[in-house]
Amino acid sequence: MSSQYEQLPSADLKKLIQKDRLSACFLELIQIDSVSKNEKNVSRLIQRLMKELGAEIITDTAGDMIGGNSGNLIARFKGNMLAPPLMFCAHMDTVQPGENIHPILKNGLFKSDGRTILGGDDKSGIAVIIECMRILKENNIPHGPVELVFTVAEEIGLLGAKHLQYDGITAGFGYILDMKDPDIIITRAPSAIRFTITITGKDAHAGMEPEKGINSIHIASKAIAALPVGRVDHETTLNVGLIQGGVATNIVPRTVTIEGEARSLDATKLKGLTKQIIDTFESMIHSCPKFEEPETARILPDIQIKIDEDFHSTFIADDHPLVKTAREAASRLNRTLKTSHSGGASDANIFFHNGLVSGVLGTGMTDIHTVTESIHLDDMIKTVELITMIILVHLENQQNDRRDNH
Ligand SMILES: [Zn+2]
Repeated sequence: MSSQYEQLPSADLKKLIQKDRLSACFLELIQIDSVSKNEKNVSRLIQRLMKELGAEIITDTAGDMIGGNSGNLIARFKGNMLAPPLMFCAHMDTVQPGENIHPILKNGLFKSDGRTILGGDDKSGIAVIIECMRILKENNIPHGPVELVFTVAEEIGLLGAKHLQYDGITAGFGYILDMKDPDIIITRAPSAIRFTITITGKDAHAGMEPEKGINSIHIASKAIAALPVGRVDHETTLNVGLIQGGVATNIVPRTVTIEGEARSLDATKLKGLTKQIIDTFESMIHSCPKFEEPETARILPDIQIKIDEDFHSTFIADDHPLVKTAREAASRLNRTLKTSHSGGASDANIFFHNGLVSGVLGTGMTDIHTVTESIHLDDMIKTVELITMIILVHLENQQNDRRDNH
């Protein structure tokens, strides 16, 4: 099949993007409330638009499993050329305050009215993907199959991705639009654990007989002080985020609970740090004089440690087709796409461990999760250009491979 778009120059691609349509679509999306677990109305809008463009729609049961009102949404386009499918993803939910958003557009910059977030995280990703599909369809541009994934509850622990119907997706790799910088692709993200530690000491009157008590808060604080809290090294962090204990100033506190998290790009380091946390607390307990409580027959102080694996790391090599295709697409647009790593997790972490390798691309979203969040229309346009070009380069690579093999 030959087409005027087989070698679509970047200048032509720019002309095909309808800025006003992109802007209107983004404004419509952010004005639909979709705080995590309440994504139904946004999902309905996307479904309608995708059906109009000819997609096959799948909605999964993630909503039922997490107590939300919507599942994840998968929209599959067959394409008009033979190529392995490509995946693009954005999440439908937002953080709070994310209800009754009144966007203000001034000189190409979107902001909220200052009372809520804007919701560019991640409605900008959704708007960009929709504009890209519209361009492909209305110009009949040759492209292979495209699978779009719109997840729920990303912001509350990647819950949608954790319950995604992966067999609805046949793509081996793809791109998630959920980050700031449009000239960066995130190919590495950390693994993380959460810990909850409860120390049980013994209560006593703090003024009259403190020697009969075992101060759980004191033990915990010595253990915390012995840990490398903060940035442990260039790829590892540790945080103690919550501490709860004690009942009154005149009572030696019996129990204290500490909660925290650790992350590292290096799974071995995370393992080592997790062991260090456990060892530090346990040895602090061992160094205390022991006391058997007659009523409970418990040996005090006592400790309970719970470690939860939060998410696994992502690692995508620079020579992976996903990275090479995206970089080639950027260079066709006279741009440079740099690989980088992230300190946080996204749906990419969960996808990666379900065999769906995903790089994370930026849309220009700035100051996310705050009421000063903003985004430039120009950055969204740049992202539409990039992902459309990725689809074109991907097809071209496929055709070249096939030619080489004959
Ligand atoms: Zn996001």
